[in-house]
Amino acid sequence: AKGQGKGRHVVFDDRMDQRTAEQSRLAADLRSALDTDQLHLLYQPIVAMPGGELAAVEALVRWTHPDRGPIGPAVFIPAAERTGLIVPLGAWILEQACRQAIRWQQTMGAAAPGSVSVNVSARQLREAGFAGEVAAVLRRTGLPPHVLTVEVTETAVFDGGTALDELKSIAALGVKIALDDFGTGHSSLGLLRTCPADVLKVDKSFVDDVTADGPQAVVVAALISICDGMRLRAVAEGVETAEQAARLYELGYRYAQGYFYGRPMPPEDIATYRPAHGPA
Ligand code: C2E
Ligand code: CA
Ligand code: CA
Ligand code: CA
Repeated sequence: AKGQGKGRHVVFDDRMDQRTAEQSRLAADLRSALDTDQLHLLYQPIVAMPGGELAAVEALVRWTHPDRGPIGPAVFIPAAERTGLIVPLGAWILEQACRQAIRWQQTMGAAAPGSVSVNVSARQLREAGFAGEVAAVLRRTGLPPHVLTVEVTETAVFDGGTALDELKSIAALGVKIALDDFGTGHSSLGLLRTCPADVLKVDKSFVDDVTADGPQAVVVAALISICDGMRLRAVAEGVETAEQAARLYELGYRYAQGYFYGRPMPPEDIATYRPAHGPA
């Protein structure tokens, strides 16, 4: 039995090594991806309910690997965070999104997305001078600060250290702050008091079951009343069906994001976006 246990242990170690090797290969490839045009941003509509009109967009990064094809951010963002590559990668993403936001303002006028959301990872927020970098990008691109929204998770803000200070400096620029995946992290409602949030994005895992009479629906209902009371804009994430949209609207939600309204799409398609779904 002892021998068997040892054998299993070796297999497990091998697998760990393979995964680590895989991760560092990915990180090395990602480093060159930045310089060779393998990365691009898609934008997903954030719409007003019930009409489905475009209110804002969220920038979502995509990587087309030369040999392996498309690799999702859920795979390479964690690798980029571990290696610190997220810092230059995140800076590139921020600049691209701001430049695109300006382009929409020039071509779409009043119909341009009211805000462009950019995901910022814990590692970026911990970097001293991140707020300064945001200010520099706004200066370089000429984007009005209120058109930019920085999306951070509760966990990133709770990171201790200087994350919260950095976030306050970003808010002081006039940039909007969204708390992403709300309800999935080490949530504390106290965060809503200390953190300068403008938007609260209710995680898909709660929205998934909003049409059933379970605990998820209760959380979704409670969160909208907190948001209304605190003058936070609530966005329901991952809305996939007309039933979910109708229920969310009934509960008081006025903004939503999800495949029901639109998948992440290239910037040209945002310019021609029309509501596909009227009042439910
Ligand atoms: P997230 O910030 O929560 O982004 C929402 C994710 O949910 C996106 O996946 C989006 O495509 C997906 N989604 C939206 N609506 C629906 C829906 O109705 N149903 C389903 N099943 N999924 C939906 P994506 O683009 O694969 O991104 C995954 C995660 O990777 C993001 O989660 C975010 O944490 C991270 N990420 C993506 N882009 C960036 C980036 O530019 N910077 C950083 N730091 N992280 C990013
Ligand atoms: Ca997000
Ligand atoms: Ca989210
Ligand atoms: Ca998420």
